[in-house]
Parts: sequence; C-alpha cells; structure tokens
Amino acid sequence: METADNAEKRYNQFASDNYAGICPEAWQAMATANHGFAPSYGDDCWTKRACELLREQFETDCQIFFVFNGTAANSLALASLCHSFHSVICHDLAHIETDECGAPEFFSNGTKLLHVGGRAGKLDLDEVERTITRRSDIHYPKPRVLSLTQATEVGTVYTVEEVRAACDLAARYGLRVQMDGARFANAVVSLGATPAEQTWKAGVDVLCLGGAKNGMAVGEAVIFFRRDLADEFEYRCKQAGQLASKMRFLAAPWVGMLENDAWLDNARHANRCASLLAQELSAIDGLELMVPVQANSVFVRLPEPAAAALRDAGWRFYTFIGSGGARFMCSWQTTAEDVHLLAAAVRRAMAAA
Ligand SMILES: *Cc1c(COP(=O)(O)O)cnc(C)c1O
Repeated sequence: METADNAEKRYNQFASDNYAGICPEAWQAMATANHGFAPSYGDDCWTKRACELLREQFETDCQIFFVFNGTAANSLALASLCHSFHSVICHDLAHIETDECGAPEFFSNGTKLLHVGGRAGKLDLDEVERTITRRSDIHYPKPRVLSLTQATEVGTVYTVEEVRAACDLAARYGLRVQMDGARFANAVVSLGATPAEQTWKAGVDVLCLGGAKNGMAVGEAVIFFRRDLADEFEYRCKQAGQLASKMRFLAAPWVGMLENDAWLDNARHANRCASLLAQELSAIDGLELMVPVQANSVFVRLPEPAAAALRDAGWRFYTFIGSGGARFMCSWQTTAEDVHLLAAAVRRAMAAA
C-alpha cells in the first residue's frame, strides 16, 4: 500500500531537481565527518580533501571556496570579476537575471546585467558582440564579464566548441568569463568531454559548481581557474554571510560525491531519466518537445487544459518559461517507474483535454 506521503513524493518529484533528497554518498560523508572536533572555518581535513579532489577532477591548481547556495556563488563570483561601473552580459533566461532577486547587482554594488537573446537558452554570440561594441562612451556601464549557464536554464548544453567560441569572443574584448554550473555535472556527462576541457581549457575563468541539485543537501563550490581573480574572495564570503563556521559539513559531502564519481553517476542517471521521459512524451499525439533534451529536464508544449488536468491529478511542475510550456525535471532520485507513471498521466490528461 502506498502511503499518502509516498504519493505526494511521486507527484512532486518532477517539479525540480532540488525537490530530491540527499543522495547516500553525500549523507554518508556527513556522518563520517561527524566525529569529534575539527577546526572551524575551513581549516579542517574535509575541506582540504574536497579541494584536492576538485583540483584532481579539473586537472589544475584552482582556488576553491564553498558557499551555501547558487545565488551567493554566482553573485560573489561576479562581484569579484568587475567593478560597480561595469556590466555583465548574460542570456535573457539566465538565473542571475531572472531568479536571484538582484543579488548579483547588490553584491557588486550596482553592476548592471545586460541580457541578450539566443535560441534554446544559449547566448547568441552576434548579439553578445553587438552588446559589447554598441557603446564605448563613459555614460554606459562597461561590459566586463560574460556569464554562461551550463547546462542552460532550458536543459540544453553548450558544446565545448560553443563554450570556446564564447570565451574567445569575451577575450577579444577583454571580458572575463563566469560559468553558472548549477547543473554542470549534467553537462559533463552529456558532452562526454572532461571537466577541464569544458571549462578553463576553453577559456572559462570562474565556475560556480552546483552541489544541491546534484544530490547534496546544500552547498556550491566557487572555482577560480585564475588565482589572481580570487584575491580577497574569502572576505567577500564572510561579509555576505557565506563563510560556514562548521565548514567540514559543507565540504564533506563534496568528498563523498567526488571520491567515487557519485556526482557524475547522479547526473548520468538524471539525464537518462529525462531522455526516457522525452521519448515517452514524444510518442503522445499532439505533444511536442520545446527544446532538445540534452541534460536532465524536459520541456513540452502542453495545452493549458491538459496542464490543468495533470495538476488536478496531483502532479506538480513548473510552467514559467514561455507560454504553454511545461518543465519536468529529473534528479538522481527519479525512478524509471515514476517516469512511466508521469508519461501515462500526461497521456490521460491530453486525451481528456
Ligand atoms: C538552481 C539554480 C541556481 C542556484 O539557485 P539557489 O537557489 O540560489 O541555490 C543557479 N543557477 C541556476 C541555473 C539554477 O538552476
């Protein structure tokens, strides 16, 4: 017998990947770290180990900071890359533009975000170049940073060549590059290229690497591939209330996730569930995918009556991108069985609508 609780979990789970729980590897690492006393504020062996593992993964001597969430990671990273009179170029749909309540502007003391369009959630580089070059006078906030989201907000993935082209363009005009990698692991397994090839080798200066949506309770890593850009970053974290005193519990889950590649296994599982869901939804008459499924989300054009019927049946999902679009998000915790159940529910909702 299914408990009300379990049913609730099932109906909820495609709303977002942060509806999922903590994966066993992260949970276990927290428990292992929970013995006795350890130095605070990052002076502990867990933090040291997590940094070592990230340096191994990225094959470079990068500078790493652990913060509580993605909004802080993005905002503080961007603030460290520019002055208040600069501007940051990002996509119209970028999380920093649409979902961070002005935190990037706040923490950088007024740096302006300039957003540009682009198909399938990816920056249109011609538009980026026009935005960089359209003004050079003192009355305009000087473009200084290009921000890309990988995987994008609509679940597409920039190829390594696309990342490199964006970084080359930025470099041509003296801009630095920040990558919002809330779902970076999903991009890594989708592309099959190494984390290094997808970031610093392509020209990315700073990566905000997501932990929560990948299976941790909380926490993101800010990874500076150029150490000079990380100068005094620890003060920014502290001032912003992002320096954990019991840092070992923010760092330990990273050790658990990285030691046995759980971060990649989790992402691979989530991506597979999304492809399975895409396949099942595509087979439904009248249903159309809005963007190619390359990571762990599926966006479909769902007629409003069908969306309402699906909601009435108890399912929870977001419809905030474009009109008539529904987003279904898979996580490390999604099961194939639940993918089938959702697809069957969508089929019924479409038939009834
Ligand atoms: C979820 C998400 C973040 C981080 O959001 P927080 O709620 O602040 O942790 C950042 N960027 C993208 C693209 C996201 O989807």
